[in-house]
Amino acid sequence: MASIFTKIVSGEIPSYKIAEDENYFAFLDINPNAKGHTLVIPKREENKLFDLSKEEYDGLMSFSYRVAKAIEKTIPCKRVGMSVIGLEVPHVHVHLIPLNAMSDIQFIEKVKLSKEEFVELAEGISSNFE
Ligand code: AMP
Repeated sequence: MASIFTKIVSGEIPSYKIAEDENYFAFLDINPNAKGHTLVIPKREENKLFDLSKEEYDGLMSFSYRVAKAIEKTIPCKRVGMSVIGLEVPHVHVHLIPLNAMSDIQFIEKVKLSKEEFVELAEGISSNFE
């Protein structure tokens, strides 16, 4: 069965898209740790990060680098943190999180955003993606 993230790539499930290319896709996390919390995935469904081929892993990291640069340009923060967990959704995803405090990377406190705020964040980050 297709993962929830494969359904996002196909458009079957909506998302606040940041960027995509042939192989990778970036969108806002729906239950963010902080404003601008973004997920970057390979379009090809794979469960665990280190089961990706070296080439696909490198491609995912390169794409994530570009997304992180766009986040930094858009969201005031001390730095962008990166984490890979995957215990909830078995489709590789890189968490890119604007950090101002250690708690922002701890997946404990969540930020509630309106649809308008999600749209504004996605458009802002997307416009800075190079
Ligand atoms: P984990 O698998 O533990 O790395 O966490 C999965 C992440 O995916 C969580 O931060 C969720 O908020 C996020 N998530 C789950 N479903 C969606 C969705 N439909 N759109 C955006 N983010 C999602």
